[in-house]
Amino acid sequence: MKKYPMEEVDIKFVQSYQVSLGNVMGDKVSLDNLNEKGNTSPFPCTLVPSDFNKKTIEELKESILILNELRDKVARDYEFIYESLQPVAQVDELVSGLLNLYKRMKEEGIQQDIYLGIHRSDYMFHGKDRIPQQVEINMISAGAGSQSSNIGKVHEMILNRYTNQDVSKLYPSEALYGLAKALKTAFELKKGKFILFVVQEDYKERNWMDQRLLEFELFKQYKIPVIRLTLKQVNEQCSLENNELMYHHEVISVVYFRAGYTPLDYHSNTEWEARYLIEKSNSIKCPTIPYQLCGLKRIQVILNNKKVLERFLEKNKIEKLFKLFTELYPINKESIEKVLKNPEDFVMKSQREGGGNLIYGNKMIELLKNTKDLESGDSEKYLIMKRIKPIGHDSILLRDGKITKGKVINELGIFGYILSNKNEIIKNEYIGYLLRTKLENVEDGSVLSGIFHLDSIYFNE
Ligand code: ADP
Ligand code: MG
Repeated sequence: MKKYPMEEVDIKFVQSYQVSLGNVMGDKVSLDNLNEKGNTSPFPCTLVPSDFNKKTIEELKESILILNELRDKVARDYEFIYESLQPVAQVDELVSGLLNLYKRMKEEGIQQDIYLGIHRSDYMFHGKDRIPQQVEINMISAGAGSQSSNIGKVHEMILNRYTNQDVSKLYPSEALYGLAKALKTAFELKKGKFILFVVQEDYKERNWMDQRLLEFELFKQYKIPVIRLTLKQVNEQCSLENNELMYHHEVISVVYFRAGYTPLDYHSNTEWEARYLIEKSNSIKCPTIPYQLCGLKRIQVILNNKKVLERFLEKNKIEKLFKLFTELYPINKESIEKVLKNPEDFVMKSQREGGGNLIYGNKMIELLKNTKDLESGDSEKYLIMKRIKPIGHDSILLRDGKITKGKVINELGIFGYILSNKNEIIKNEYIGYLLRTKLENVEDGSVLSGIFHLDSIYFNE
């Protein structure tokens, strides 16, 4: 993006527009005040979109289709999943719970073999050539799609009003409409009345507007009613009748999870019973337990090997994907040695979805040198990854009504959906993106962790 007089931008105008679009997130709710519904604030965002090369984006759009196909094949390979994740299950209660349930379903017979995946593959851009490198793939509750579409509208408004930039080069995300279309397509395949959104308790979920916008879109465009229930409420209010998941005497067609990916969502056996009820039913799940398991970082580590990939994909597809993968290792003697030689080139991270902080630098060195802690099974909780090192570019950030100018880096999530049964892929499409931007000296964080800003793509050529 070229420079232009951003001093002129009226922040109140931008924020009001964000509020009018529902481009907001919930404020943190105090645990002492759970009955009080929190307020909302405009999403932190950039005032200007980030430059991207069209060809790179086209390649990433193509790659999500290959990733979808790969993950679908892996998820349908029971032995592969089971063997790969057994060691992680020993030290991780969530993985253990999911794996047990998957085994039980396998024994009792899986009713619904149509799977819906709404996936988001995240990339950072390495070095001066901005080579896309995959960070991870999210196969459950991949969020912020609705809000990524909103920010395109905000940028369009800012460019039109305050600059003479060519707005036709802005490439806004279609994720809100894409996600709605994915859920609608599944809904059409399974007779029923509702789509169920499985959600977290109100006080945990600050990104509820992102979910609501999707709910509104489903009704506005397709007249599909959504119900929102926590796992506990599913257990109390839903039942199985002839393997159909019932709510108020009506069939739930599709179950879309925006919860269930952290152990904090399982307070007791009640939530696990709800998970069983859903999995056992004829509803189409987004995701099914095997898809959720397949999204674990341990699977990413195992698939980071051409030999393993050959079991699932043709050669030309493997080549396309492999360019995007960066080095990934489980924690063992060999990998520890490698990291300790060049610690600045690696990071350590938790296997878990939304696992939180990266470990790097001195903290990582300490942990790896003191392998006693890791030997006790902790090594299964982590993995080692080559550090992706993006070079910052100039941007202007807006957060809490304050402007910061500085060097920023991007993390781009490419959304795709896949609908398949055990014999064929029914649909496999790119459906939009999420671009998150942060100051270059800040290390990591999720969408709501307080460091990211919503951003959109501007084609620079
Ligand atoms: P989570 O499941 O917590 O989202 P991620 O793998 O996405 O885990 O890592 C969290 C954040 O850490 C990412 O959003 C990214 O900013 C940063 N990160 C992850 N892997 C790397 C890496 N290999 N190099 C540099 N930064 C990374
Ligand atoms: Mg992530």
